[in-house]
Amino acid sequence: MSHSEQLFQQAQKTIPGGVNSPVRAFNSVGGTPCFIKRAEGPYIFDADDKKYIDYVGSWGPMILGHNHPEIRAAVIKTAENGLSFGAPTELEITMAEKVRELVPSMEKLRMVSSGTEATMSAIRLARGYTGRDKILKFEGCYHGHADSLLVKAGSGALTLGVPNSPGIPADFAKHTLTVTFNDLDSVKQIFAEFGSDIACIIVEPVAGNMNCIPPLPGFLEGLRAICDEYKSVLIFDEVMTGFRVALGGAQQHYNIKPDLTTLGKVIGGGMPVGAFGGKTEIMDYIAPVGPVYQAGTLSGNPIAMAAGLTALNLLSAADHHSELAAKTKRLAEGFKQAADESGIPMAINYVGAMFGFFFTEQEKVTSFSQATACDGERFNKFFHLMLDEGVYLAPSAFEAGFLSTAHSDDDIDATIAAAKRCFEKL
Ligand code: PMP
Repeated sequence: MSHSEQLFQQAQKTIPGGVNSPVRAFNSVGGTPCFIKRAEGPYIFDADDKKYIDYVGSWGPMILGHNHPEIRAAVIKTAENGLSFGAPTELEITMAEKVRELVPSMEKLRMVSSGTEATMSAIRLARGYTGRDKILKFEGCYHGHADSLLVKAGSGALTLGVPNSPGIPADFAKHTLTVTFNDLDSVKQIFAEFGSDIACIIVEPVAGNMNCIPPLPGFLEGLRAICDEYKSVLIFDEVMTGFRVALGGAQQHYNIKPDLTTLGKVIGGGMPVGAFGGKTEIMDYIAPVGPVYQAGTLSGNPIAMAAGLTALNLLSAADHHSELAAKTKRLAEGFKQAADESGIPMAINYVGAMFGFFFTEQEKVTSFSQATACDGERFNKFFHLMLDEGVYLAPSAFEAGFLSTAHSDDDIDATIAAAKRCFEKL
């Protein structure tokens, strides 16, 4: 039995499913999750000392590669002064100023400790600011596990939401309207019916939780126009895309200004950090200036700020994003070519340092229904073959892949060569 198998058996006795977050359990691909001992640059090493080229990057934060020496040094140095004060620090101002410099639509922002907290707080703020209860989200987009966001579409095409999980009251979920990503008409129809009750639209500007699905031309522009027309708040959930699709996030890449933005992952450099922010007029509705309550004992934690700020400073010190985009293209196009040569039908999507590949006969995948129609069995088989080859992909066909500055062309070419061998076995 491998060390990972032993640890997984032991873990399941005290931790539900053996993991502290569900998708880590390999629940969709099957098998035993790799327990990780350490990570360095583009590589992770499991409990059996097996090395993998990693395209998960801790689900996004590791855009500069694992265990970056400068981020680690900043954490150690800051820790020498104490771990948490529950009182404001200068570091929090420096961090807020840095984020605003990189994402100018965030005129004011507040730090939290996870992406879930960021989106939950932004939604409450949008509701408080507009005095409206309903919110609009898209099927297949994930915004963390807050009650109003863990809601799926009802049975009709355009119906009130139903809970995605026991524990969420139907009375609560009904305020969440769910429509189709990349389908502006579905948004227009629902606004025609409920527009004056809708506090906000929340959207992943590049969907990364149903594989990787970029917005079709005009989609984000259309959301902006609809929010302007109905005086609803446009929230870009850039927890995944922030500092990744471009230095200034998807809003910079597509040149659309949301009213509020939520951030996570990269902003913490590997420590638990999230943030939400936007127009001053809206942000000043937050306590203690305004009436909408939001708080956090460890928000703006100095160690987390030190890690995140160092990551943002490193990222903005040079043009890393053209290099990241070129590497992502190399990987995605390499996968596609290898699949073509092996007679495996495949579609690919990529933007900035995010990519997705789909086992499908469809030329292009631009919607949730197309993503879910792909060959899941084939993905699961491919995932395990790649794992054997020493390549760690996200253990689900519905997650985007991530590149880091630490991935060399040699790592990418080795990954493509491994993929070719795996395609031949499918
Ligand atoms: N929003 C998006 C777009 C995400 O991808 C995630 C996490 N994958 C979240 C919110 C929730 O973030 P967290 O897991 O840090 O709560």
